[in-house]
Amino acid sequence: MSSTNPRLPKILYLNKDHSLIGLIPWQRAVSMLLNEKVIQPHGYEDVIQIRLPHGKVFPVPTAVILVDFKKPRRKIKPVCTPRNIFFRDKGECQYCGTPLRRNTMTLDHVVPKLSGGRHHWGNIVACCHECNTKKGSKSLQQAGMKLRNGPPVAPSIDSIKLAECRSVWNENWIWWISSN
Ligand SMILES: [Zn+2]
Repeated sequence: MSSTNPRLPKILYLNKDHSLIGLIPWQRAVSMLLNEKVIQPHGYEDVIQIRLPHGKVFPVPTAVILVDFKKPRRKIKPVCTPRNIFFRDKGECQYCGTPLRRNTMTLDHVVPKLSGGRHHWGNIVACCHECNTKKGSKSLQQAGMKLRNGPPVAPSIDSIKLAECRSVWNENWIWWISSN
C-alpha cells in the first residue's frame, strides 16, 4: 500500500525491540535509512512517496526500526507546555468535550491565577475559547462548571508520545501501537 501525504509526514520511529521511541521527520528517517542505522520493517509495504526538488520520487516507509538497540533514556517527566497539555487532554476541551486544534485551543487555570492557582500539571487544562470565556477567573464552583475527566494529573512521557502518534494516525502503525 502506498500513500501520498501533502503535509510533511512524520515517520514512526521504533527501537530494535519494536518499542516506540517517537515520531521523526521523514528527512531524518531517509538519512538514517541511507546510513543503515534503521531498516524498513520486514514485509512492510506502506510507503509515502516523497517528491524531491529535482522531481525524483523517493519512497519512504511510514515506520522505521533501529538496527542497534537504543537504551531508553531515564524516564523524564514531561514539561507542562501547551503542546504537552494538548496531548494529555487528547485534544478535547476538558469542560465541554469539543475537539480542539493546537493553534486555537486555550489553556485554563482550574484554580484561577488571581486566587493563587499556579502553572503546573494539576492546575491547567486545555479548553475551548467559549468555556474559557465562561469560566473567566472564577472557580469551578462559582462558574458552575465541571471537569469531564476529573482533576488533571501529570502524564507520563510515554503517554504523550502515544497521543502525538495518534494525532497523526496511520492505520499501518497498528502493528506496534494501539489506536486509542
Ligand atoms: Zn469547551
